[in-house]
Amino acid sequence: MIGVFGGSGFYELLDGARQVKVDTPYGSPAASYMVGTVDGVDVAFLPRHGADHQFPPHLVPFRANVWGMKELGATCIIGPCAVGSLQERYAPGSFVVCDQLVDWTGGRERTFLDGPEVDHLSFADPYCEDLRQIAIASLSDVGAAVHDGGAVVVIAGPRFSTRAESSFFSSQGWAVVNMTQEPEVALSRELGMCYVNISVVTDYDVGVEGEIEPVTHEEVLARFGESLGTLRKAVLEMIPRVDSAACCGQETGE
Ligand SMILES: [Zn+2]
Repeated sequence: MIGVFGGSGFYELLDGARQVKVDTPYGSPAASYMVGTVDGVDVAFLPRHGADHQFPPHLVPFRANVWGMKELGATCIIGPCAVGSLQERYAPGSFVVCDQLVDWTGGRERTFLDGPEVDHLSFADPYCEDLRQIAIASLSDVGAAVHDGGAVVVIAGPRFSTRAESSFFSSQGWAVVNMTQEPEVALSRELGMCYVNISVVTDYDVGVEGEIEPVTHEEVLARFGESLGTLRKAVLEMIPRVDSAACCGQETGE
């Protein structure tokens, strides 16, 4: 089974799916999972912020969301999200398939590895390279402007960055900024699931050079909505390809 997390504005993927409620040792996931098939491949879809976008980024039940995917039998996770661009070349409306991640969140329940057995996740390359190549090809095939690689810096939110924070992130060469990739990626990897991100660029962040106005939440949602059709098409295109690919099978570090 392939798991798909929906982000801001992305609440539906499957037609005629059935709702499955999952309980986890970490509480209830953000919503019921929508379980169905795409070209005969089993898929579970969950809007990470809840069906009505009721969980802000810092309150998303990440551990329950990810645990539920594993419980349903997911082996690979596709995790699209809305991002702000930190570099001029990542224009709004384009897509970035990130290959690196910087965790700037703090204070989140970020692991399943709470002992008593001590384990450490190998996380040098957080994203699955096999899935990344499939995502890039699928996005290209549906006509999207897609960037291969880049680092996403994940901030705690719910507020956006200050100019100083944002220009620091830009000066590091990081590509985009988001509020939900962590701990979602690490948690998925701890449970042995491969993860691929599709970053949907909604706007330029405040620290990007030039005369660009700071963003509002309304603008983010509106821009994400515009890219939604393309994203949905690309994800549906990806699913059969992911299913037939021999994925890397990344596992927790030991
Ligand atoms: Zn993989």
